Amino acid sequence: MPASDAGLWPGRGVRAPLVPIAQTADAGRVLELRPHCECCGRGLPPESEDAFICTFECTWCGDCARDRLHGVCPNCGGNLEPRPIRPAHLLTSNPASTIRVVNPNCLTEHPLGDSVGGTTTADQ
Ligand SMILES: [Zn+2]
Ligand SMILES: [Zn+2]
Repeated sequence: MPASDAGLWPGRGVRAPLVPIAQTADAGRVLELRPHCECCGRGLPPESEDAFICTFECTWCGDCARDRLHGVCPNCGGNLEPRPIRPAHLLTSNPASTIRVVNPNCLTEHPLGDSVGGTTTADQ
């Protein structure tokens, strides 16, 4: 006897309809895909596999994300994750951002090699 599926799977049947990508783009809800690392200024094209973002889309190159920032966004304190790559055929209708965002203090506040604070300038 067919018991009620709804009881077993309460989420079934109430799934929201898929929204066409064009609509989300008009609403401005796609990733910005910023063009540069905010720290060192390295170019990060949309197809780059070495771009990292935080939840606010602060954007960093792989070297900075790993070696300077150690996976933590210096702007908001959030974690950094690899930026998803937008399929090329969607870049025409949903182009990447061209606005350059820079954190001018990043390079000085997060120098390379400040890993454990063991190497200081003074060498006795
Ligand atoms: Zn960088
Ligand atoms: Zn951030």
